[in-house]
Amino acid sequence: MLTLRQEDILLGCEASDWQAALDHAAEALQVAGLVEADYRQGLHAREAQSSTYLGNAIAIPHGTPESRCHVKQTGVRVLQFPRGLDWHDGQRVHVLVTIAAQSDEHLDILRQLTHVLDRDGVGERLAAADSPAQVAALLSRAVVEARLDAETLCLGFPAHSAEELALAAAARLRQAGCVAPGFVAAIAEQAPLALGQGLWLAHSHREVATPALALATPAEPGAVNGVFCLAAQGDAHRGLLERLSVLLESGQGSELAGASVQTVLARLAGEGAGAETLTVRVLNAHGLHARPAKQLIQVARAQGLPIKVRLAEGGEAVAASSLTKVIGLGARRGQRLVFSAEGEGAREALAAIDQAVRDGLGERVTPFDEGRDAPPVEASAPAPEPLAADRPHPAVAASPGLAIAPLFVMRTPRFDYPARAADAAEQERRLGAAIHEGAEQLEALVTQARGGEVAEILSMHEEMLEDPELYQAALEGIRDGASAEAGWWEAIETAARAQEALADRLLAERAADLRDVGRRVLGILCDVAMPEPPAHPYILVADDLGPSDVARLDTARVRGLLTARGGATAHSAILARALGIPAVVGAGERVLTLSNGDDLILDGERGQVIPRPSQERRDRAELRLKEREAREKAAWAARFEPAATVDGHRVEVAANLGNTAHAADAVERGAEGVGLLRTEFIFMAHAQAPDLEAQIAEYREALDALDGRPLVARTLDVGGDKPLAYWPVPQEDNPFLGLRGIRLALTRPEVLETQLRALLMAGVGRPLRIMLPMVKDVAEFRTVRVLFDRLLEELPEAERATDVQLGVMIEVPSAALLAPSLAAEVDFFSVGTNDLTQYTLAIDRGHPELSAQADGLHPAVLRLIEMTVSAAHAQGKWVGVCGELASDAAAVPVLVGLGVDELSVSARQVPLVKARLREFDLEEARARAELALAQATAEAVRDALEAR
Ligand code: PEP
Ligand code: MG
Repeated sequence: MLTLRQEDILLGCEASDWQAALDHAAEALQVAGLVEADYRQGLHAREAQSSTYLGNAIAIPHGTPESRCHVKQTGVRVLQFPRGLDWHDGQRVHVLVTIAAQSDEHLDILRQLTHVLDRDGVGERLAAADSPAQVAALLSRAVVEARLDAETLCLGFPAHSAEELALAAAARLRQAGCVAPGFVAAIAEQAPLALGQGLWLAHSHREVATPALALATPAEPGAVNGVFCLAAQGDAHRGLLERLSVLLESGQGSELAGASVQTVLARLAGEGAGAETLTVRVLNAHGLHARPAKQLIQVARAQGLPIKVRLAEGGEAVAASSLTKVIGLGARRGQRLVFSAEGEGAREALAAIDQAVRDGLGERVTPFDEGRDAPPVEASAPAPEPLAADRPHPAVAASPGLAIAPLFVMRTPRFDYPARAADAAEQERRLGAAIHEGAEQLEALVTQARGGEVAEILSMHEEMLEDPELYQAALEGIRDGASAEAGWWEAIETAARAQEALADRLLAERAADLRDVGRRVLGILCDVAMPEPPAHPYILVADDLGPSDVARLDTARVRGLLTARGGATAHSAILARALGIPAVVGAGERVLTLSNGDDLILDGERGQVIPRPSQERRDRAELRLKEREAREKAAWAARFEPAATVDGHRVEVAANLGNTAHAADAVERGAEGVGLLRTEFIFMAHAQAPDLEAQIAEYREALDALDGRPLVARTLDVGGDKPLAYWPVPQEDNPFLGLRGIRLALTRPEVLETQLRALLMAGVGRPLRIMLPMVKDVAEFRTVRVLFDRLLEELPEAERATDVQLGVMIEVPSAALLAPSLAAEVDFFSVGTNDLTQYTLAIDRGHPELSAQADGLHPAVLRLIEMTVSAAHAQGKWVGVCGELASDAAAVPVLVGLGVDELSVSARQVPLVKARLREFDLEEARARAELALAQATAEAVRDALEAR
């Protein structure tokens, strides 16, 4: 999406004529560092080829392909000419959207502007706008269209009733990431609406992230031909519903039953059943940008009959004679366009279009070569090399702790079986026998488990296995010619999918149990042994683990977790931390070559595993484990003592919270306050943005539990990897570099204002610290400060917090580099090392392979922290660290040595971090900080600290 910043917009420009205006635009791009001076000729040359006037008083000057070499960086400059310009094609222009683009990124800009062109009076409003924000708002507001594509279709679903199909369609929307569970619940609560012709509609706007329309059709059409499920948001679905009503009016609605994905998309795009169609690929290197689009509409207009065009993957079919609509498709090279026309001459018209597109629409094009243009096919990977015995294998530390135990590799077995069988009676007998044997196995396991959670789960599996409906569904398949294996698995999958569609998360997670049960019987039928976890304590090794897998773990026996994939911030890692199970993740496929029963040392602190350790190494690890247990015990006993180094240097230890209800637990664990309240999790727990009263109640809960200890609340930090269902952010190529944190909050100042007001009102008589996430420089802080100061004025002192500070998080390198200018105005800093490391090292914090290298002890990150602390202390301000680094035992003395005043860590870590502080004095801490700063890599830092 075109995200215009204030500095991209130049108001009140003047020029004697259009050429002078172009020069002005070229200069603006140059001053912004986007282009070299020679790009100016490119702008003029492009204008000489044809006008870049787009409509509604907007022209979009851009360079020729030859001048792209003068583009230093893709970007836009918007110049407003309030008095207007006579453009060379006779149009009147008030705004130049001048584009510097290295490849086809400008297509998105064009595409968005075409929506602006559809709005009446935009030209005049742009001319009269008197602030950059106003211009940005006029140009940036994209019209959202509800999604409908192959992923939102659920065709041939094995259900008959409208209610079941509505749920299947809602589940499909959930799988496609358009809605959250609350939406599915809302659909489950309503009776679908009859539309006629066997079609039904269910809809809700609850927990919609992306507006979308799903369609579920039954495997066997009967009274119900299909159920639409609409995830509504604003009026994004208007166009889709209009096309649906046209389809119904034409009496062709019932044809959707049994139709293919392509046919359904064509009908809902507005293509008639009798239309001739042509599918053709865009060959132009930079997609269907303005110039080829102009050629295309000219060819379409010359045919003398209406022609429609759409993207093959879905979306509305638009008039091929409309420039703005064609550009609005945003078609890129390689994408397929579907043209359609009806009536006499349709075939010839489409042939002419076909030729024109293949000829390149006025541009030199190279034919689409599947081999060259397609992404390279990955060569089949060689089998992973087994891990060497008694050698540390490094990976990502995901949950602290040490485990020494035999390992158990959870491998999903492979089942090979025929899909069909002629002897139904024999298949029925086989299935009956296999189910019986499965039940016996489970019975034996329940007895072995002797109570506890595992026994409960296994008993539930037994009940599932004896479910007569499941058996009947499998028999139906067998009687239709399926083999026992295929009939059984089909029945299991259908039931599991229906379960997944349920709104209740816990019930939905039972789908995994159904599949477990299904595999057990399949294993018996195929004579494949199922992996059974051992009865003694073990370390679980798996390719990856979902949160529900972790939640279902037998915590009495699982001593540690090791996965081939996944990052430290994956949900499963977070859950493992909450359960206190040591975990190492992202260790690569080689860990799957380990053999069941082999001993393993898993070090969740250092992020490494050692298979088949020597006796000597094992003894050392066992000693460490004992020491650790003793340390934990001692740390727990001393948790309420103030946090300080041996020589009495105070460093506050606070807790990180995502849920205000956990504040009491944090205090019980010895926290001296809350150093980071991730308020976005409070927002995420609500179906809609909590109002003022709801927020006051939430914040008060934490403040009450803290009983006079300080609360550092971070304002909403949505975006990046933390989407908020009811605050959708447009799809971005790099969400971590996009609209998130304070940038996003500032697009909805009213939400931020309510949050600040609620915090202030909840904080009467309490020490309250408020901090802003993702701040890049002082300008963002000032914007919020104005709002904050106004609230302080507005709210009577008796009704708001008076011991209040406003600070910023330091998690963007620019903020650390500019810390002196920020320190002069803020009350405090809190360093978010998770993001600071990600942005400093340019490693996505959740990257499955790279995140192991995203180490906060990297000297580059430490230098930024050093700069932050010295700038803050020079102005008498305090600095906290609230990223994961704050609880890293090796990092604690380094951070203290750098001068950090507060460490905020997960509540479980509070006693240990306090205990760690009591192990060194300030002089030692300073020496460690100096040592770390002098290293060249994170590895060298860790080695040097360990060797000291
Ligand atoms: C951080 O980035 O270090 C931080 C504490 O914030 P979050 O992990 O919530 O992004
Ligand atoms: Mg952060």
